[in-house]
Amino acid sequence: SKAEGQNRLHRFEPGLLLVRRLRSQLVEDLRAAIRNDGLMLYYQPVVDLVSGRLEGVEALVRWNHPTRGFIMPDEFIPLAEEAGLISELGNWVLRTAVQQLRAWIDDSLVDGDFSVRINISATDLQSLQFIEDVRNVLRDTGVKPDQVVLELTEVAIVKGNELDRYSLAGLRGLGVGIEIDDFGTGYSSISYLRRLPVDRVKVDRSLISGLGTDPGQPALVAAVLQLVRACGLEAVWEGVETAEQADILRELGCLSAQGYYFSRPVPPDDIPALLADQQES
Ligand code: C2E
Ligand code: CA
Ligand code: CA
Ligand code: CA
Repeated sequence: SKAEGQNRLHRFEPGLLLVRRLRSQLVEDLRAAIRNDGLMLYYQPVVDLVSGRLEGVEALVRWNHPTRGFIMPDEFIPLAEEAGLISELGNWVLRTAVQQLRAWIDDSLVDGDFSVRINISATDLQSLQFIEDVRNVLRDTGVKPDQVVLELTEVAIVKGNELDRYSLAGLRGLGVGIEIDDFGTGYSSISYLRRLPVDRVKVDRSLISGLGTDPGQPALVAAVLQLVRACGLEAVWEGVETAEQADILRELGCLSAQGYYFSRPVPPDDIPALLADQQES
C-alpha cells in the first residue's frame, strides 16, 4: 500500500537515522533554536478559487540548523513532542505568525479578511496554558480573533478526551477559527463533524492526487464537498499541484485551495510580491 511505501522510505531516510543517533544533541540544538531565533516560519497561500486572490496563508515551521541546514517539520515536530519542547515551540509559532500578520496589516498589505493559519499539536490542545497563550497574543497584537485560524488534525480532535473538547470550546470562545486538518485520513466516523465546534475542514491532499488522472476522482471530491456542506461546514482543498486539478475543483464548486500550483511555502519576505501579483490579475 501507499502507507507502507511511505513508512519504508522513512525508515531509510538519513535524516531520521541521524535523529536517532544524535538525538540528545539535536534536542539541545532544538531547545536553543526555539529560544534564539533558529526557527523560521514559511507561509503558503490559501487561494480563493473563483477570484484567484489570497484568502490567507498557512504558517509552516522550518528549522535552519547551523550545521545540518534546513530540517523539515515532519522530522523535528516528533522530536519536540518526545523531548517535551512542543508547547514552547507551539507558543513560538503562534506568537511569530500573529505578529507577522500584524506587520502585514500595519503595512497595508492585507485587510481584515486575510487570515493566518497555524498548525497546533494535540499537546497544545490538551493544555489550558495554550488558551491563555492565544488570548495573550491576541491582546498584545490587537489582531482580530477571526483572522487567526487554528488547524488541528482530525486524529487530535477525535481521539481527544473531555478536556480537549473543553479546550476546543475555549479556543472557539476567543473567536479564533478552528479548522480540521488532514480531513479524510482519520478513518473515523464522520458523524462527529456536526457536533464539533469547528468552522472548516481542510481536506487531505490524498483526495486531490488522483484528480486529472483517475476518472472516478471528481465524483469522490463532489461527494466529500456535499458531505462537508451537509454538516454546515466549508472545505479547503490542499495539495493542488496542477492547473487541471484547480480547474476541476473550481468546476465542482469548491471555493478555497492550497498547493504548489499556486505557490510553495515561501519566506515572509516573498509574500508582498505574491500579494502584488494578485492585484494585477
Ligand atoms: P500539514 O499541516 O498538512 O501541511 C501541509 C504540508 O504539505 C506542508 O509540508 C506543505 O509544504 C506541503 N504541501 C503544500 N502544498 C503541497 C502540494 O501541492 N503538494 C505536496 N506534495 N505537498 C504540499 P511541511 O511544511 O513539510 O509540513 C509538514 C507537516 O508538519 C504539516 O502538515 C504539519 O502537520 C506539521 N507542521 C508544520 N508546521 C507546523 C507547526 O508550526 N506546528 C505544528 N505543530 N506542526 C507543524
Ligand atoms: Ca496544516
Ligand atoms: Ca494537511
Ligand atoms: Ca499533515
